[in-house]
Amino acid sequence: MHNLFTKLEASFEEMVALRRYFHERPELSFEEVYTPATIAKFHRELGLEVREHVGERGVVATLRGGKPGKTVALRADFDALAIQELNDVPYKSKNDGVMHACGHDGHTAILLILAKVLVPMREGLAGNIVFIHQHAEEIAPGGAKAMIEDGCLDGVDVILGTHLWAPTPLGDILVRSGELMAAADRFEVKIQGRGGHGAEPHQTIDAIVTAAQFVTNLQTLVARRVDPLKSAVVSVGHFEAINPFNVIADTVNLKGTVRTFDDGVRDLLEAEIEKLLNATCRGVGATYEYTYFRGYPAVITHKDETEFVAQIAAEIPGVENVIECPPFMIGEDFAYYLQHVPGTFFMTGAKGPTWDTVYPHHHARFDFDERAMLIAAKILGEATLRYLQN
Ligand code: MN
Repeated sequence: MHNLFTKLEASFEEMVALRRYFHERPELSFEEVYTPATIAKFHRELGLEVREHVGERGVVATLRGGKPGKTVALRADFDALAIQELNDVPYKSKNDGVMHACGHDGHTAILLILAKVLVPMREGLAGNIVFIHQHAEEIAPGGAKAMIEDGCLDGVDVILGTHLWAPTPLGDILVRSGELMAAADRFEVKIQGRGGHGAEPHQTIDAIVTAAQFVTNLQTLVARRVDPLKSAVVSVGHFEAINPFNVIADTVNLKGTVRTFDDGVRDLLEAEIEKLLNATCRGVGATYEYTYFRGYPAVITHKDETEFVAQIAAEIPGVENVIECPPFMIGEDFAYYLQHVPGTFFMTGAKGPTWDTVYPHHHARFDFDERAMLIAAKILGEATLRYLQN
């Protein structure tokens, strides 16, 4: 049996204990203090070079091999969510209103144990391994961008990451070359008409009729402005005009989301939404306010690295299927790393084989099968070792 796998298996209990330790002590994005300090201490005790407060709250630990070579970065996020945990488990969150409901506690444990298992192999390693522990994945602008600006990718040749994924069965690995996750943006619109008596519309500028026209015509942007071979979604989820039944609305507030994969399509939609809004309002004499908030860019994985990891994943004990998945419309700030260095991101199935119900990520009853951590650690560890051998 492979040395790495045996060692990871022997450390599985510790990995679970670490995950549960972090699960009990979740911290919100951009408020993480205890978590990064604990991570830094762990790596320091292993003898790694540790840099704290990277991009404000991140931790970067470097394991230097005995021989020169390439540098592989592994990334795990460590922030939690503003959710009151409803699971009745021994490791339930001790912080009221805060919960690791996305599995970032697991990501952290995977990286820490990988470091521990790889340290004794350092003399034989040709190259370096950088452990990137990132704060604030859940809330844009996120921690990745700041950590990159603070040098976490300096000297890095390739970056790998995974997300434990509860909707997918344990043993399944989801990979995709290219567009894996969408850019997730948000916009807000205020349409200012001139309210008045419902019986005298000619004396008014009806903000509801104007906003309704705008919302209806928004869909023509995807149908008529976006290249049909590229994908995009524009959805308005909030349409607010609170009035008595016989009053013509003075203002309407709208909020919506835009999902894209291509930067050009993203820029186009940001501009075209305003063009349409402007034209619609001008046509009736209304005015508007328009704000477009950029979330994370799309996660675009690199082909060679994705194929490399997919091939390795297929050989890992515990992996049943490596599946090429369709793109996800959710966002991830792993996107930024992939804009700087080649690499890939994959989903590690974490749904227990006997589970009837799966609570989705960000649910108050979210949990995952902890054995998924072992599978993910084996894939990341094996890919790292093989990359350094080449
Ligand atoms: Mn997440």
